[in-house]
Amino acid sequence: MAKYIFVTGGVVSSVGKGISVASIGRILKSRGITVSTQKLDPYLNVDPGTMSPYQHGEVFVTRDGAETDLDLGHYERFIGIELTKDSNVTSGQVYSAVISQERKGEFLGGTIQVVPHVTSEMKRRIRKVAQISQAEVVIVEVGGTVGDIEGQPFLEAIRQMRKEEGRDNVLYIHVTFLPYIGATDELKSKPTQHSVNELRRIGIQPDAILCRSDREASEEIKDKISLFCDVDKEAVISLVTSETIYEVPLLLEEAGLGNLIVERLGLTAQESDLSKWRDMIARIKAPKEQVLIGLVGKYVEFQDSYYSVREALSHAALAHNCEIKILWFPSEALENGDVEQLRQVQGIIVPGGFGQRGIEGMIQAIKFAREENIPCFGLCLGMQTMVIEFGRHAFHTQNVNSTEFDETTEYPVIDLLPEQKNIDSKGGTMRLGTYPCHLVAGTRTAQAYGTDVVYERHRHRFEVNNRFRHPMEDAGMIASGVSPDGKLVEIVEIKDHPWMLACQFHPEFKSHPDAPHPLFLDFIGAARKTLVTGTQTSLPIV
Ligand code: GLN
Repeated sequence: MAKYIFVTGGVVSSVGKGISVASIGRILKSRGITVSTQKLDPYLNVDPGTMSPYQHGEVFVTRDGAETDLDLGHYERFIGIELTKDSNVTSGQVYSAVISQERKGEFLGGTIQVVPHVTSEMKRRIRKVAQISQAEVVIVEVGGTVGDIEGQPFLEAIRQMRKEEGRDNVLYIHVTFLPYIGATDELKSKPTQHSVNELRRIGIQPDAILCRSDREASEEIKDKISLFCDVDKEAVISLVTSETIYEVPLLLEEAGLGNLIVERLGLTAQESDLSKWRDMIARIKAPKEQVLIGLVGKYVEFQDSYYSVREALSHAALAHNCEIKILWFPSEALENGDVEQLRQVQGIIVPGGFGQRGIEGMIQAIKFAREENIPCFGLCLGMQTMVIEFGRHAFHTQNVNSTEFDETTEYPVIDLLPEQKNIDSKGGTMRLGTYPCHLVAGTRTAQAYGTDVVYERHRHRFEVNNRFRHPMEDAGMIASGVSPDGKLVEIVEIKDHPWMLACQFHPEFKSHPDAPHPLFLDFIGAARKTLVTGTQTSLPIV
């Protein structure tokens, strides 16, 4: 039978709840305990797939094609596990399931209520993760902050879980923030006391409190929190902002959280072994050199939109014993042709996106990279724009485009997938999740991967149009990765260029700090060889 750790947040959002959950997972794994994770999101969207990147940040795609919260990315990267659609539950999913059961008459004339019907559906979905994963411990993060109206049913559901699963099988951890007041040079515990009171009001007494702060919490403040929140002193754990997020498992383990969890849940555990992780942190903190990458994207004002891309770049840099510095270029600002700015970077990455805004800027950046021999890596939309740019060059006309941006273009080198043509509904209808891809022997791609078949995660509606594939291949574009039936181009590379490659999938989702993605690794390797000229500044945000 699985044990559960429920992690709630207090005081403010963005205190690192997701990183804490991921770190707890790593701590338990390092003690030989099997773990799975889940994120409960209180909003009413069925999934974040339809949300704007500015609202939500990145949409993380699981191997089974679920569009999920970016916290699942942290869980996979820290713990080294692969999650599925069951690991992200939203209020939208829960309510739509309950209402559709009601419409089918499954409640036999009863009145449908938040308690027990909605909370029962929530508990069923929490337990499902335990059943499917067969993990010894399931760590469940409740999104939002205690006190939010939307979050109440989830909190009620996790409250009921302790009663039903048994006191020794459920642990509540509350992550809060201690604000620093400069005038008196102290951290304050009052907001934490209030948020714990709010939790207790609904019947949840936290077993441990993780206090995030930008400075070390004193013994006095920990005593105070212990007293007022009725939590043992050793369970009040200071979580000081660290140089790298990957250090958090070490900080929490050193603060005693691993022992506390093992004791309270009565787990059989081995001695903690975080030695490899510790070595990795030491390497992160002592880079040999810096690699400068320009990221040309539509949503650079909100960098969480590219969370996994940023991480994948830093994992690859780490494997080269380097650190990454990203200069952010809003693609719209490059539309007037002001691409000389890009001379200051060693490599250009063009990530995913949707819609027309900023597309011409991406194309300009890619053209510059091709002509100036700057390593360039395109991801999803970045591949589509690379193909459009190459098409314009190959066919000697500007009238080359994707039908996403120009339905009447003369050369629609990127077009809707046949199966996408009659789809009206926006939610969950793209080509999503893992597909196999066959690599063409002798290409840079096959060399980088060192294998002939790869499995990568997709999230798109458009695809390379086969009508133009062979003419473009004749002009120097190589389809270096294709679907098993050979019909879909999944990876392209450009001949006679130091490193110009793009893929229709999102390799960034499969990169882990201790297992960088081969394409990112090869890209950073090429970027390291590029000399930079010019001063280093990002373009202003438009
Ligand atoms: N907008 C493009 C498509 O739908 C690319 C999507 C993406 O970059 N994820 O195909």
